[in-house]
Amino acid sequence: MTLRLNRGPSRTVLLDVDGTLCDNTPRLIEYVKAECGVALTREQITEWSFSIPGTELDIGDLLHRAIDERPEWFLLGMEPIDGAAEAARWLSQQGHTVRIATHRPAESHPITAQWLDEHDVPHDEIIDDVPRNKGRLAGDILIDDYHVNVKNALAAGKAAGLFVQPYSDPAVCGEAVVAETWSTMLAELGRIHPVTNGD
Ligand SMILES: [Mg+2]
Repeated sequence: MTLRLNRGPSRTVLLDVDGTLCDNTPRLIEYVKAECGVALTREQITEWSFSIPGTELDIGDLLHRAIDERPEWFLLGMEPIDGAAEAARWLSQQGHTVRIATHRPAESHPITAQWLDEHDVPHDEIIDDVPRNKGRLAGDILIDDYHVNVKNALAAGKAAGLFVQPYSDPAVCGEAVVAETWSTMLAELGRIHPVTNGD
């Protein structure tokens, strides 16, 4: 099912944060270097169980540790993904409800709220406790960068959009809109750019 969001009715849009609104990978790479002395590249992180060479830790463990130990440094230092703030604004302007659906621990939500405000990302709510299966959340469409979440949303009868990342697998997200940028994602969901006069 493809959803068009450029016309009514009002929908509830579930938006992921990491890898969808903000680019968490550079900070994570910096943290892994500081903690383990290992220099990773973005392309190496092809799954969240990726083991850090020479350690018994995987990248998912390190991600949770960074949020636990240095939440402000880790989360506030992330850059927004190009077009993310504009996308959330457009969704709000179309009359949709924007619910933030992240698997970050609930204790870190005030920091996420601060980040969203600092980067002008409008939202109606940060969902407190997001179940492993995001398909269980109330909403009409999930936009996320992790194929498992998108697959769960589709299985629950929602529409979905998947951002391509080294760790995401579009092959299991058959009916989802698959995009590399917010510009493409929103064009697929019905945003039409106004014609300009070239100025
Ligand atoms: Mg994500």
